[in-house]
Amino acid sequence: MLSRLFPSSLGLRLKPRGELFVSLLGIGLAVALPAVAWVWTTVRTLDRDRRDWTQELQTLHRFRLEEAIRTLDVALKARGSRAGHRTPSRVSEAGVLFRDLLGDAGEGVPHEGTPDGLLVLAADGTPLYPALAIGVINPPEVDVRGETLMGAFHQRLLTQSMGDAYLGLAAQWVEQGLEGSRSPSGRLYLPSIELAALQQLSRDDPRFESTLESLARRVSRHTAPLMPASQRLFLWRELQRLGARATLPAESAEVLGLAVVQELAGKPDREQPTVKTVHLSGEGPGQKVWLLPAPGGGVIWLYQLERLHRELEAQVNRSLVPQGYRAKLVSQRDPVSGVGALQASIGSALPGWALRLDTSVATAELAGSARRQAALQIASAASAVILGAVLSVLAVRRFLQRVRLTEVRHDFLTTISHELRTPMTSIRMLIDTLVSDPNPQPDRTRAYLEVVSRETLRLGRLVDDYLTFARLERGGMNYDFQPTAPETVVEAAVRSVEPRFAAPGCDFRTEIARELPMIQADVPSLTTALLNLLENAFKYTGADKRILLTVTQSGSTICFAVIDNGRGFDPRQRSRIFDKFYRVERSGNSVTGAGLGLHIVKSIVDAHGGRVEVETTPGEGSRFAIHVPIVSDDSERAYET
Ligand code: ADP
Repeated sequence: MLSRLFPSSLGLRLKPRGELFVSLLGIGLAVALPAVAWVWTTVRTLDRDRRDWTQELQTLHRFRLEEAIRTLDVALKARGSRAGHRTPSRVSEAGVLFRDLLGDAGEGVPHEGTPDGLLVLAADGTPLYPALAIGVINPPEVDVRGETLMGAFHQRLLTQSMGDAYLGLAAQWVEQGLEGSRSPSGRLYLPSIELAALQQLSRDDPRFESTLESLARRVSRHTAPLMPASQRLFLWRELQRLGARATLPAESAEVLGLAVVQELAGKPDREQPTVKTVHLSGEGPGQKVWLLPAPGGGVIWLYQLERLHRELEAQVNRSLVPQGYRAKLVSQRDPVSGVGALQASIGSALPGWALRLDTSVATAELAGSARRQAALQIASAASAVILGAVLSVLAVRRFLQRVRLTEVRHDFLTTISHELRTPMTSIRMLIDTLVSDPNPQPDRTRAYLEVVSRETLRLGRLVDDYLTFARLERGGMNYDFQPTAPETVVEAAVRSVEPRFAAPGCDFRTEIARELPMIQADVPSLTTALLNLLENAFKYTGADKRILLTVTQSGSTICFAVIDNGRGFDPRQRSRIFDKFYRVERSGNSVTGAGLGLHIVKSIVDAHGGRVEVETTPGEGSRFAIHVPIVSDDSERAYET
C-alpha cells in the first residue's frame, strides 16, 4: 500500500534514515493535528447542538401544549358565551328563553358545539326552568274560581258520560280565562282536564282528534302560562300513548335539564362550572354532564361530558395536526404514560381534567430534519479532512521525490568517483611500474599493457554509460528510428565484445533466425542496450562462461535474448533491477558496476516501443530478452516514399 502511494520511498537510502522519518512525521502531524482538531470540534459542536436541540424541542412541545390549552379555553368560552343574557324574573319568561336559546338543539343528532340542554336561573340562582314542580314556582298562580267549575263538573257527571263531563269542564275552564290556573304544586289544571277527557273518549269519537291536537299544542308551547317541565314530559308521554304523531321540540334537553335540576336540588351554583352525574330514566346507570355558566349568570349550559370531550379534542387536534401533534383529554389523576407524552391541567374551565400531548410524530419529523443537518455538517467536515489527507499525500509524494532526487545525485557522485578511480588507479600504477623499470621484460610489459587495455575499455564503457544516463536524465536522447535489419544491431554489438568473448573460458554463440523482418530502430542506442546485456552476462558468470545470443521473431516483435549460465539472482528483485543505481545486494560482491546498465537498457527499449523480459534462477543462470516491434507494412511504405 505504502509502496503504491509512495513508489519511490522503497528505493530510498537516505542517510540518516531518522532525518527522513522526522520529516515525514512532521508533515503527518502538520496534517493530522488540524484534522483531528477539526473532527473533535465538529463532534463537540454536534453534541452541543443535539443538547440544545433537545431543550429547544422540549420548549417547543411545552409551547404547543400551552397553545392547545389556550385553544381549548377559547373553545370553551365560545360555548359559554352563546348566551350572555338578562336574568329572567318570571317563570314564564324562563320558559320562552329556554325555547329561544336552544333553537334547534334537542332535535336529532346535535351539531358540534350545540349544547345538550340548559338551565334558566333566577337572580338567586334557583333554577327557573326546567323546574321541579313542587315548591319551585313561587308564588303558585292559583285561581280559586276553578273550585266552582269543579262543582259544576260533578253535577254534569250525573247526566253525562265521563268524557263529555271532562270536555265540558275544559270548555268552561277556557271560557272563564283559567288557562293559567295551577295546583299548589304549580301544575296547570287545563291540560290535565284535557288529558282526562281524552282518556275517557273513544278514539272514534269525532272530538278525540281535535282534543288530542289541542293538548299537543299546549304541551309543546313554552309561553305563558308555562307548564312545569315534569308536567310537560308526563303529558307528552301520555299523548304518545294515545297516538299523537307530533314531536316535542327540546324534549331531550328538557329531560336532561330536569335530571340536572333534581341533582342540584337546593344547591344553586351560578358561578362555578362543574361536572354532575345525572341519572336519566331508561338510559343506563347515569351520565356525566358538564355545567357551563354563561356570562351574566342567567343561564347554565349543559353538555354531555363524553360528547364534549370528543368535540373539544377534535377542535384542538384540528389546530395541532399540521405540526404533527395529537392531543387527548384525560383525567388529571391519570399518570402520564408513553414516551414523548406531555400533560398539563386545563385549569378552572374543566376542573379535574388535563390535556395530554403526544409529541412522538412531531419529534420524529423534527429529528429527521435535524439529522439531515448534522449529516451535512459531518459530510463537510469529512470532505475537508479527506481533502487535507489527499493534499498531504501529494505533499509527501513530492517531498519523497525531492529526497529521491537528492539521493540520485548523491549516489551518482559516489559511484562515478569510485568507478572511475579504480581503473584509473590501476592504469597509472601499471604504467608507472613500466616507466620506472630500467630493464623491461617483453612478456611482463605485454601482460601489463593488456591489463591497461582492458581497464581503458572498461573506463570507456563507464564513461559511455554515464553519458547515456546523463542524456536520458536530461531527456536529451536523440533517436533516429530507421527500418533496420536485426542483424545490423547484432553485428555491431558482437563486434564490440568479440575480442573478450573469444578468450578461453568463454563459450559465446549466436543463433540468428533467417529472413527476419525489419525493425524500427535507432541502431547506436539499440546496440548499446544489447551490449549492456552481453556485458552483464559476461560479468555475472563464473570462470566457465557459456553465453548464447538468439535473435528470433516473436509475434509482431523481434526478440534479442541473452542467455547465460551465471549466478542469477532472487527473482523477487526482478522489478527493481531496472531502477537507476540499483544493484542486487550480495555478500562479497566482487563484480563492480554502477547499477546503470539495465536502467539504460529499459529506457532505450521503452523509447523503441518494446519491452524487456527477465527470467532467472539463482545459481543457474539468467535470460534477458529485448522485444522490439517489427516495422509494419504501412510504415515501411512510408519510408520508401
Ligand atoms: P551493474 O551491472 O552495474 O550492477 P545493472 O543495471 O547492469 O548494473 O544491473 C543491475 C543488477 O542486476 C546487477 O547489480 C546484478 O545484480 C543484476 N544482473 C544484471 N544482469 C545480470 C545477469 N546476467 N546475471 C545475474 N545478475 C544480473
